[in-house]
Order: sequence, then C-alpha cells, then structure tokens
Amino acid sequence: MGSANALAFGGGLPKDVYQNHKVANLLNFSCNCGYQGDAWVASTRSGFGKSFWFPHSCSACNAVTSINVLKKPICCPECGTNRISQFGVKLPDPPTGALQKLLGMLNAKHWLQSKQLKALKNYHVAMAYEGNERVTYGIFHQSYFCPKCTNNTLRFSLSALVD
Ligand SMILES: [Zn+2]
Ligand SMILES: [Zn+2]
Repeated sequence: MGSANALAFGGGLPKDVYQNHKVANLLNFSCNCGYQGDAWVASTRSGFGKSFWFPHSCSACNAVTSINVLKKPICCPECGTNRISQFGVKLPDPPTGALQKLLGMLNAKHWLQSKQLKALKNYHVAMAYEGNERVTYGIFHQSYFCPKCTNNTLRFSLSALVD
C-alpha cells in the first residue's frame, strides 16, 4: 500500500468517513516505553473485498501487527501464531425491526455493544465497517495494552487516509 495516494492528514474528519470502507486508515501508534510504528485499518480501493486490515497484538512477536481479518484462520502474518488479540472493538450491526430491537434491549451484551457503537462514533481514532461479517471495527481515543512493555500506555492516532 506504500504507493497509494494519501487523501488527508490529521484530525477534523467528517463523522461519516468510516462508512467509506474503500479508504484505508493509516494509524501511528506510540507508547511511553518508546515503542512506535504504523498500523492499518480497513482497506484501500484496490484491496476492497479481499483485505480488511486491523491492528492486533501478537504475544509471540511482542509487537503490534496489522492483520487481514478476511483471511482465515486469523493469525500473525509475521510468525503465523494465532496467539493474537485485537485492539479496540468489533461491534455487530444494531438490530432493525421492532421485535429485534425489543430483544436487543433485553439482552445485556447487545445493550453494551449498542452503547459502545454510539461512543465509537463520537470518540474514535478510526472506525470502519466490514460488510462480510456486518461488523464495525474501531479504535478509541484511549490507552491500550503495549506488547513491548506490557503496560496500558499505548495510544493510536490517525496519520492518513489512503485511497
Ligand atoms: Zn507474531
Ligand atoms: Zn510500551
């Protein structure tokens, strides 16, 4: 994706940018321990439908790695292990239809996911909809687990949108 065109840098993005899932988000991450690098969210136009990248932590490499979640089984592209954990959240579509909405309200897990989806829309570094599984992936403006120093002091920021 190195030759792709950068569309925009920094903040001030419209709230609905995440719905354009043919634009990849290039993120930077950095931690207090000095560990830093890049991570990808979603897909470029040319990779659309074939790849959907999202940052994970690999407990074998002790590193942040961007994984194509459309390629099953999901594993670390560097070392091949499945000992990985996804950063941020993966939230299913809210229910449509009256009965589904009612059942959703009665389900604590679903209620929490809807709340997270609302929060994500207002407070995300990056969010993107993955249409195969009908889920929204997102990274919040918050501190995450650092695989290098094992403290919760790793943060992501948006670096560029890439077509
Ligand atoms: Zn690995
Ligand atoms: Zn660290």
